[in-house]
Amino acid sequence: MSDALRRAMIAAARRMNELGINQGTSGNIGVGWRGGFLVTPSGMEYEHLKPADIVAMDMDGNPSGRRKPSSEWRIHRDILAARPEAGAVVHAHPPYATTLACLGRGIPSFHYMVAMAGGDSIRCAPYQTFGTEALSKAALAALRDRRACLLANHGLVAFGRDIPHALRIAVEVETLAGQYWRALQIGRPKLLSKAEMNVVIEKFKTYGVQPKRTPRRP
Ligand code: 13P
Ligand code: ZN
Repeated sequence: MSDALRRAMIAAARRMNELGINQGTSGNIGVGWRGGFLVTPSGMEYEHLKPADIVAMDMDGNPSGRRKPSSEWRIHRDILAARPEAGAVVHAHPPYATTLACLGRGIPSFHYMVAMAGGDSIRCAPYQTFGTEALSKAALAALRDRRACLLANHGLVAFGRDIPHALRIAVEVETLAGQYWRALQIGRPKLLSKAEMNVVIEKFKTYGVQPKRTPRRP
């Protein structure tokens, strides 16, 4: 049934730690499933997770299964409900993104890849206690027209059409945060204009889309 999906979630959660965008039991993953969603359990080491540890929830937040859902289940539920293009949500505490978030700073258009998150900046949502509805609301607002945002004094949230897409965006945001942090050490990064960023946002609509079939030779 959902066994393959549960295994993919566990593999992605472990991958977050391998990639260095997460550590310990920080972060969580949610995936839309049968009108509700699946989410990683709260406070469990990813190393030891079994498919049955993943929690199935309905959109009212009722869990089923043997584990307590991630304390951030509202973020996952609310993004999956509000953004029809979202199939999977990743939350993590990566070092550079979290460093900027601890200063309450988002990531401006210092590099064209910022557009990968959907706009000309990556916002930082104001601080709210972890696991609260207030945090989910703040995240959703910061995600307007975006696929990722930082969470002040906490970490980041990214979503995509599926798990690999969401993970790719989370990793890219962390890469950008590291580059922005470095640039700030030696000067004031030059920002790209709204017009330049709009060109990139447009180009990204077809970037990486390969033709389905190789055309026949005449
Ligand atoms: P959970 O272990 O409950 O998923 O919480 C981790 C976290 O990052 C809270 O913001
Ligand atoms: Zn967190």
